This record gives sequence, C-alpha cells and structure tokens, in this order.
Amino acid sequence: MPNPLYDALFSPGRESDRTFLITANGETIRYRDFHALASRQANVLVKAGLEPGDRLAVQVEKTPEALAVYAACVMAGIVLLPLNTAYTMTEIDYFISDSGARVVVCDPGMADGLKQRDITVLTLDAAGMGTLSERAERELPTFSVVERGGEDLAALLYTSGTTGRSKGAMLSHANLLSNAKTLAELWRFQSDDVLLHALPIFHTHGLFVACNVTLMAQAAMIFLPKFDLSSMLQLIPKATVLMGVPTFYTRLLADKRFTRDLVSHMRLFVSGSAPLLAETHVDFEARTAHRILERYGMTETNMSVSNPYDGERRPGTVGFPLPNVELLITDPDTGVVLPAGQTGMIEVRGPNVFKGYWGMPEKTKAELRDNGFFITGDIGRVDEDGYVHIVGRAKDLIISGGLNIYPREIEALLDEQPGVLESAVIGVPHPDFGEAVLAFVVPKPGHEPDLAAITKVSSENLARFKQPRELIILAELPRNTMGKVQKSLLRATYNDRFG
Ligand code: ATP
Ligand code: MG
Repeated sequence: MPNPLYDALFSPGRESDRTFLITANGETIRYRDFHALASRQANVLVKAGLEPGDRLAVQVEKTPEALAVYAACVMAGIVLLPLNTAYTMTEIDYFISDSGARVVVCDPGMADGLKQRDITVLTLDAAGMGTLSERAERELPTFSVVERGGEDLAALLYTSGTTGRSKGAMLSHANLLSNAKTLAELWRFQSDDVLLHALPIFHTHGLFVACNVTLMAQAAMIFLPKFDLSSMLQLIPKATVLMGVPTFYTRLLADKRFTRDLVSHMRLFVSGSAPLLAETHVDFEARTAHRILERYGMTETNMSVSNPYDGERRPGTVGFPLPNVELLITDPDTGVVLPAGQTGMIEVRGPNVFKGYWGMPEKTKAELRDNGFFITGDIGRVDEDGYVHIVGRAKDLIISGGLNIYPREIEALLDEQPGVLESAVIGVPHPDFGEAVLAFVVPKPGHEPDLAAITKVSSENLARFKQPRELIILAELPRNTMGKVQKSLLRATYNDRFG
C-alpha cells in the first residue's frame, strides 16, 4: 500500500545493514535496527489510541529513539507535532489545545504536569528510556504500514515564533518528499555521506532538511544531542557534510583548533535559518578553503532557495530558487509584481509550499494566495545574476516620518565599522516620527567601537531619516535556539526609549 514518505525514506532501509546513526559515544545504529525500533514504536502509538490523521505532540531531548518517533508516525499515518524542548508547560498547553493532540511523548520531568490534562502521556528521556521505550520493547519489530496519499498530512510543525505567536504549518507527504528529493540531488548526497548533525530535531532545519536528505540518500548521520564545540572538533574528521545555523560557523571560527587540515576532507558546509554574515562566509573560506553553501527556507515552505553546488556560492545571498519553485518579488502593500532588481515581498510557489495554518483559515487565506503563491513575510530582491538577497522581515520594517526603512541597510553599514562584530536595528515608538531608528552594536572581542565615529559615518552615508537616533552597545544580541535574532525582545525592552 502506498505511503509516499515511508516508501521513499524508510522502506529502503528495512533490511539494510548500512549504518544510519552514529551516537556521540560511537554506538552505531543500522538502518534495519532503526526501522525495527520505529515499527515497535508505531505499534505502541496505535495501542495508545492514535489513528491515521491524529496529531502526536512530542517534546523530548534529541536521541535516536526521538527520531524514530518521526518514522513511527509516518508508518502509522499519524501527524507528528514536534515541540521545542525550551517550551514551558504554559506553552505546551497552547500547542496541545491548538492542535487537538490526544497523546504526548514528553520528558519524564514534564509528565506529572501533563498527566493533569486530558491527554495520554508517554515518556522518553535523554537516554532514550521511558514508558514509550518500555512498551516498544514488548512489541513486535514489524508494523503494517498505513496507506497515505501525497496530500495527507505528515507533520504539524509550529513556526519559531520570532515575529509573534507560533503558527502550526500543515505539511503533507508530498511537501516533504519533494523537498527531500530536490535537496538530495542538488547537494549531491550519496550513500557514503556522513552528516554531522548537531541541530535540534524539533525544527525544519534539523528534522526535515538534514534527516530527510540523509534518508533519501541512505547515508549516515553522526547524531549529537546538541552543538558542543569540543565534540564537533573531535567528530568532524569522521563526517563529510555539516549543516548548521550561522552561529555554528562563527563558534567554529572562533576556535584555533578549527583548521584547514581538520576539514580538508569535507565535502559540504550548509548554512541557514538565519542570515550568514558575508564576513563569516569570507573568513570561513580564508580559514578552510571551503565556501559555505547558504540556503533559505521556512517552516511553511521547507527550503525554497539555495546557492549552487557547482556554481558560485555568493556571500550575502541565498542563491537561486530550487527547481520547480517559483519566486516573485511583489509590492508588500498591493501584491503587484515588481520590476526586476527591486526590493519587495518574497512570494514562493511550488510542491514544497504547505497546506495552510492549522485552525487559522483567515490567516491562511491572507498569506496563501488562491494561485498557490505563499507570501513569506520576508523582504528581498533578486540581483542581475538571479541570486536572491534577503533584506529582512516585513514585520521588522521601520516606518519613520511616513518613510520606509529596511533595517538591513543600516545594519550592513554598522557591521563594516571598526570594532563592530554585528548589529541590529529596530524601530521604537517616537512622539514626532511615529517610529525612530534605534541601533545596537556588538563589539568584536577585545574592541570598543567608537560610537561618535559611527554616528559620523551614519550621517555621511545615510539619509537623515534613516540615521539611528541612538546607538547602544550590547555584549550580544538576544538569539533563540536557531540563532535567530529576537528583535521582538529588543523592541519590548526598548519600547519607551523615546516615549
Ligand atoms: P515566526 O514565523 O513564528 O515568526 P520564524 O519565521 O522565525 O518564526 P521559521 O519558519 O523557523 O520561523 O524561520 C523562517 C525564517 O527564517 C524565514 O522566514 C527567514 O526570515 C529566516 N531565514 C531562514 N533562512 C534564512 C537565511 N538563509 N537568511 C536569512 N533569513 C533566513
Ligand atoms: Mg515565519
């Protein structure tokens, strides 16, 4: 019986002796072991009362057993709802009631609180133990895979909540599969690849991009519970590919042990989830002779744009739309397509684009056009060579004295100033201008940027309305687990600055 994701990702390894996962302490899990584990778990989930189409909320530490829950859901036609391990009980309550999940797999530490709710609780801890594993032990390692169509949901993946409350993106088998196929081909994944996996598996980057591409190629992953510099340096010689958020790369570069020799054997470094500074790209190449391949995507669309494997990987850009993905730049207010080269709203259409937001028909209608284009909320432009540049988020746009300001333009200037590592620019309420520009600069280690000099450079290079009203030095920018700068936190903290 057909089940698109199972057939493409999990069935091929059913009887394979190839290594799928290598844990931090060197234990290996073959494809066939993983398949058997997932089958046992699928039996447990079905006995817990889950039927095809039901949602399973999962908030657990990253382990091979946790990844098997994804496979088990695919096998049983259950919709996987992975949750950030940082979420508190109040947040979990929202996701559970919003999604209507009746069963949750959680860390034993959360179990008592959740048992008060009207929900079946299974546990899984950081060592892969708990009631889920105990019950799985008693089940058969075989499972009769449930039939699914391409349009059936495989996951309900909540967005990161960078710009507001997280929304549940409905992702179908066809959505995930199209992206897995495209990326495995584009990035030339082969069965002898070994991906160093240090990303969380509750987010699209670590879960779908990294794992699906690996499964597609029947390759292997070194599966680390989290990013840890020493483990990374120790294990990178055994890998061929690394996928990371920009902070992985800046942290690796900050360590002298990260040398050209250490990574000369590597095939590919991929970056995404947040903008990679052009400077990091350049420094990385100078250190390692490798050019990081930056790509762009989001929970709702999987990946949409990628720098080329063979052609020029251009710093500060995310490359070209993927095969079968169409990309438009439109006027954010009118939706009219803008002439080539102009900056505006990025819209994408393709087999990767989600089915809408769970339980939010109005929002879905507002952001997913009838013609299939999804209004991403990101502002960007396409340069004369076809490379896509991400300028920022529409929600971070500053309107001062009635004029639009894209923070990225100001940040780019600040980032170039002596002693500045990085910067963030936000708009905060201002009695005269509506909003005024406030800039934060993070010093390079051991440096003290000259704010007066930076103010002078701004006044020489930026129109008056774009010039920061104030520059503030911060030791670091607030970031979430995916390395995204949380401008909403900065706005909340500095809201009254000019009030
Ligand atoms: P929310 O939608 O809840 O506010 P979020 O948009 O941060 O949160 P995700 O779906 O995890 O949630 O992130 C997608 C966003 O990440 C994109 O819309 C884009 O703004 C940003 N992003 C991803 N890759 C890149 C990249 N290479 N360069 C710049 N930004 C990127
Ligand atoms: Mg978003």
